[in-house]
Amino acid sequence: MSKNIQAVKGMNDILPASVDRKDKLPSSQLWSWFETTLRGVLQRYGYQYMLTPIVEPTALFVRGLGEVTDIVEKEMYSFTDSMNGDQLTLRPEATAGIVRAMVEHNALYNGPLRLWTMGPMFRHERPQKGRYRQFNQLDVEALGFAGPDVDAEIILMVRRLWQELGLVVGQHVRLELNSLGQPEERAAHRAALIAYLEGHADKLDEDGKRRLHSNPLRILDTKNPAMQDVVEAAPKLMDFLGEASLAHFNAVRAILDAAGLEYRINTRLVRGMDYYNLTVFEWVTDQLGSQGTVCGGGRYDGLFEQLGGKPTPAVGFGLGIERLLLLIDELGLAVPSSAPDVYAILPDAAALSQAMPVLEALRAEGVAVQMHAGGGSFKSQFKKADASGARFALVFGADELARGEVAVKPLRGDGEQVTRPLNTAAAWAADLRTA
Ligand code: ATP
Ligand code: MG
Repeated sequence: MSKNIQAVKGMNDILPASVDRKDKLPSSQLWSWFETTLRGVLQRYGYQYMLTPIVEPTALFVRGLGEVTDIVEKEMYSFTDSMNGDQLTLRPEATAGIVRAMVEHNALYNGPLRLWTMGPMFRHERPQKGRYRQFNQLDVEALGFAGPDVDAEIILMVRRLWQELGLVVGQHVRLELNSLGQPEERAAHRAALIAYLEGHADKLDEDGKRRLHSNPLRILDTKNPAMQDVVEAAPKLMDFLGEASLAHFNAVRAILDAAGLEYRINTRLVRGMDYYNLTVFEWVTDQLGSQGTVCGGGRYDGLFEQLGGKPTPAVGFGLGIERLLLLIDELGLAVPSSAPDVYAILPDAAALSQAMPVLEALRAEGVAVQMHAGGGSFKSQFKKADASGARFALVFGADELARGEVAVKPLRGDGEQVTRPLNTAAAWAADLRTA
């Protein structure tokens, strides 16, 4: 017999919590709760939802992210369209696609936009906890704003999201902040950095040697302990920033300070894409090992032009949903229950024609009703009702039905069992609904 087909390595199913899975990935309940929470937060800050395709022309990412970034060099799922020979790529991130869409539709013609999207991204990485080949991001972009007010607002919005999810800033998640200045400032720093690193070439690892002339800034981001002394003493980009860049950075800081948000300035924070300038930030946690960045973003004022659009200032971030939910799982934070309000017990199949209109009437009033299906004894149905987490069992027993009634039995706490008329469900629905 042939082996069963399995999911592609590094690409995960998201399943209900009742499924006992080996890989300990977050449940779909946690996922839904996160989505509901984030929609509420984004709406309060005036962000509008949008979607872009998962497949884009390869050139979009090569041109948008930069040829010598990790993503473009080795992480993209690219293929040739067999119908017409086009070079295509599964999106590794969301920003390039959004900017492409904005330019294509001249979408900022009527003024700036605050946008968000969410969905799967694809990177050919070594799968491990918190690092997958298909993973999901919340992606938020404020387009047409030069900042620093919007830079700060977007960071404070993430803080609000943490608060609503029950994450404590400073304890579970911390903010790291840096400024990458402008391209000329980076060029001057880059020259100084290369000269410095060439003087310490014997201490660089393979990756470091490879990046010395292609992407030396990324060397500062190394996780290799043997290179920490070298990168610690390297020239800092911060020391190459001009007056305007420093003023922008200080203005962002002043707003965050006034809002009481603590952060650490990390002069080695660089981010993986070439499009960033000025403000960059990461929200990090110590609880997920080396996959500690749950959210990263910054300003990318040059990307519109790079992709053929008019010069347009912009700032945004990507948040790794699997990583965040792993963190929430690990911390054991309280998540609202997804249990039904009511579990309907039908000891006799003949009860269905009388029960169904009652269940429909309750649902019309907003009650979450799970109907027992598939028969079985009263006892086994009652066990299922209990396991469902419902607060009430509705028992459509023959005696009650004969009297035109249904029994309402509390399953949690010590409330009394009552009977209710079948034909006035709308009137007693409120007693069953979660407040
Ligand atoms: P890392 O340094 O961990 O590789 P990155 O800088 O490549 O992250 P970004 O491109 O900034 O990550 O993506 C934003 C967020 O998306 C990350 O902070 C992380 O939470 C999440 N993320 C990135 N790559 C993966 C992945 N392969 N699997 C799961 N989540 C990911
Ligand atoms: Mg990466």
